[in-house]
Amino acid sequence: MQLELQGITKRFGSLVANDHIDLVVEPGEIRALLGENGAGKSTLMNVLYGIYDADEGEILLDGKPVKFSSAGDAVAAGIGMVHQHFMLVPVFTVAESVALGYEPTKKLGLIDVKRARQHVIEVSERFGFDIDPDALIEDLPVGTQQKVEIVKALSRDASVLVLDEPTAVLTPQETDELMTIMRQLAEEGTSIIFITHKLREVRAVADKITVIRRGKVVGEASPQSSPEELATMMVGRPVLLRVDKGAANPQGAGLEMNNLSLLAPNGTMVLDHLDLTVEKGEIVAIAGVQGNGQSELADVILGITRPNSGSVILDGEDLTHENVRRRLDSGIGFIPEDRSTEGMIAKFTIAENLVLDQYKKAPFAKGPAMSPDAVAKNADERVKEFDIRIGKASDPISTLSGGNQQKVVVARELSQDLSLLMANQPTRGVDVGSVEFIHQRIVEARDSGAPVIVVSSELDEVVGLADRIAVMYRGGIIGIVPADTDRAVLGLMMAGVPYEEAVASDKSMEHEEVLKDE
Ligand code: ADP
Ligand code: MG
Repeated sequence: MQLELQGITKRFGSLVANDHIDLVVEPGEIRALLGENGAGKSTLMNVLYGIYDADEGEILLDGKPVKFSSAGDAVAAGIGMVHQHFMLVPVFTVAESVALGYEPTKKLGLIDVKRARQHVIEVSERFGFDIDPDALIEDLPVGTQQKVEIVKALSRDASVLVLDEPTAVLTPQETDELMTIMRQLAEEGTSIIFITHKLREVRAVADKITVIRRGKVVGEASPQSSPEELATMMVGRPVLLRVDKGAANPQGAGLEMNNLSLLAPNGTMVLDHLDLTVEKGEIVAIAGVQGNGQSELADVILGITRPNSGSVILDGEDLTHENVRRRLDSGIGFIPEDRSTEGMIAKFTIAENLVLDQYKKAPFAKGPAMSPDAVAKNADERVKEFDIRIGKASDPISTLSGGNQQKVVVARELSQDLSLLMANQPTRGVDVGSVEFIHQRIVEARDSGAPVIVVSSELDEVVGLADRIAVMYRGGIIGIVPADTDRAVLGLMMAGVPYEEAVASDKSMEHEEVLKDE
């Protein structure tokens, strides 16, 4: 089916999320929508899927105008969507989840579930998915849940399939598998709209690339375009994609974690006898699929959570029983995973947020209150130094874009003598231009002699920043490997395969490919 969007405009109050967007996708085409966070990609797809009403513009299927007033309408017209945030219900089985896709509003009938079971089996066979139709969603790894979403979207014979950032929770191998499936579907005539901000992925799989910036289509590109060209289109200026850093100069143990274990309230081991040492002057980046204990490790390092056993030692001092306050006072810079709940106070001004943990200390404290002059002066300096794009420093931080909020957090945390930098997803939701800047500052923290630990679910970020990579799997470190380790090996380790085996298996796969080519 040919899909055409004509002049789609969608406003949220004064914000124009989609500004007269035109897009034509031919049958069997894989079209990538590339754009920074907040560019308007999900909004456009929600308009197509009947979730939002466009303020202007038209949708045409095979040249005929259509109007969708609900997702049900869009599904009935042959449009399937895998949302950015999964919409599966944890306590349902796979078959029940898929049955819900048939009639989103109807109660689940026995017949529907039976039909769905059959469908799961058929689609699984066709694409080589290993999905048990009777498994509970909550028991499935995220990669499998992703596949269930795809089965669900395909279960109504979608002729246009929208995948909104489907690879965020996948290992590199699972991403490759997904791309194979996309190609298979496209060959059978399904049109695919593939949304991502990862350049590598669009170059690997797309037939054509549409770049969106600030709600507007800024151009089309071919998958042969270089990453630099694509990034420039996305951001509107040239960006450095590589992390520019010299060799590390490690200076002895900085942060030592010994035998850390942590039990979740439900009794599962979220940290399982974890050992890791980060030297002063080096960056250890933690790679892993989300949910393997990375967030819990960060919380234990900061003292938000106490481990059930083991110790955290910083510069020879045992911090295991210190509270968060004491740890922060000792010079730990902490960039939290979720800035909106842990990194900032939305109602406070930008200037206040720039001194959040330091307000009790000189020069900001003035008796029990803050010295407004010192706070304002600090804000001026930090805003300049970190190139934070603001109106006034006295505006609430909530008026800033996500990328600039993140820069406020980074500026505050890095503007001190650091005994340790713990950066958790430091560039999540940040535009490519600010990523470059934040990475530079993290490397500077290392070069000033701090031990640096970075947790990231973006493999590019891990590989770019790390002096050494620690791969985390099920609460433990499955291996510590050099930064130039092959991505395929890293991907296998992220799926639980130890290093030696991962290398061997990677070699044998390469060997097979060589044989095929001959
Ligand atoms: P993308 O998917 O490209 O990251 P989105 O389409 O989610 O971007 O968002 C585009 C812009 O619209 C952003 O500035 C976002 O904050 C805003 N936005 C998205 N959904 C809503 C909403 N329901 N209400 C208000 N603003 C929204
Ligand atoms: Mg989105």
